Amino acid sequence: MNILLLGSGGREHALAWKIAQSPKVDKLYIAPGNAGTTGCGENVAIGVNEFDKLKDFAVANAVDMVVVGPEDPLVKGIYDDFKADPRTAAIPVIGPSKAGAVLEGSKDFAKAFMQRHNIPTARYRTFDGTSLDEGLAFLESLKAPYVLKADGLCAGKGVLILPTLEEARRELREMLGGMFGVASARVVIEEFLSGIECSVFVLTDGRHYKILPEAKDYKRIGEHDTGLNTGGMGSVSPVPFATKEWMQKVEDRIIRPTVDGLAAEGIDYKGFIFFGLINVDGDPMVIEYNCRMGDPETETVMLRLKSDIVDLFEGVAAGDLDKRGIEFDGRSAVCVMMVSGGYPQEYKKGYPITGIDQVEGSIVFHAGTAIKDGCVVTAGGRVIAVSSYGADKGEALRKSFTEAEKIHFTDKYFRRDIGQDL
Ligand code: ATP
Repeated sequence: MNILLLGSGGREHALAWKIAQSPKVDKLYIAPGNAGTTGCGENVAIGVNEFDKLKDFAVANAVDMVVVGPEDPLVKGIYDDFKADPRTAAIPVIGPSKAGAVLEGSKDFAKAFMQRHNIPTARYRTFDGTSLDEGLAFLESLKAPYVLKADGLCAGKGVLILPTLEEARRELREMLGGMFGVASARVVIEEFLSGIECSVFVLTDGRHYKILPEAKDYKRIGEHDTGLNTGGMGSVSPVPFATKEWMQKVEDRIIRPTVDGLAAEGIDYKGFIFFGLINVDGDPMVIEYNCRMGDPETETVMLRLKSDIVDLFEGVAAGDLDKRGIEFDGRSAVCVMMVSGGYPQEYKKGYPITGIDQVEGSIVFHAGTAIKDGCVVTAGGRVIAVSSYGADKGEALRKSFTEAEKIHFTDKYFRRDIGQDL
């Protein structure tokens, strides 16, 4: 079969790497892809939000399945758009409908959904410009630190955690005053939860689901979780506190009620659900939902998935995911992200990357890379993910750190403490 994968990050290179291993695949196209995805299939110069061009391409190239990597086209309704066009209506799109992607696209919707289905999450209320005074009063009823979340998508920047009431009051005014444009026209204020975070991923056909290996990601730029938030500096799977018992609680209290809740509300959801969880005194609670895989978690989760991912995708499309087997690799997997100096603030692009061909025993996933004059160059903040297997986390990390030293570009940086807190 012919598959069209959408996206251009490390997540998509990892998905492309896994999809390309399937004996079911004849041709894999990646739109737009990056320098690394060319090793797994053919890059197509179409943006992820260019729905008309993507549909034309799918028809012209006999695409049998579309796999959507990032959230943006999902929130914009790519699933519905393909369904509405008679030329592409029969092509399965792996990713939720627009109504399903709202789980990520609106934090207010996600919180209300969790409340409707008794899914454990922080106590919250949502405010808009007309209820600023109530929002300020609600803040006073909470204890520090204060958690303010823009309702809409803000590329990971829309959550503020503020140490004092004064700052929280000021930021609430700013957010409702248009700090993140329409995305912060509504603001969720919620209780602060204290604990370690863990990402759990599920693939669902809307009725059945398969739980993928869990992972922990490292968001801050600096070692020991200091400095600004980034898209993610590394990840580790498995996560030691995600024991069988804990995962059973996650399934019973969170995963099943979510999948059943979506079905009960008539929401068409065929794709990945990412549960951003926090372990509060042994009990999992939901911090957020995302409607796609995580990045850089995909760069470890794909290593640990032994089964044919295309077979699972076919199960999603056919609605018989319960009949498909899923197996995991018992080894540990880790990912160390190499970034451009200056990231997540100002950084330069276009530096040549050397040494990738020297890497042995780790898997190099490209994130922000491009090809210029026949050379691989930096083209983003997060540049290269170095993923490794190991008998345990320590062995996998040693491999990734050693191999990351062999890759060079001007001002490269990576965290050397990934996984050390587990
Ligand atoms: P991203 O897409 O980057 O994962 P986001 O902008 O969608 O993030 P959230 O995941 O909801 O936002 O929040 C970002 C981070 O803020 C979380 O990973 C978590 O560390 C912290 N956070 C969010 N809500 C809470 C909470 N109620 N208590 C404690 N920490 C929180």
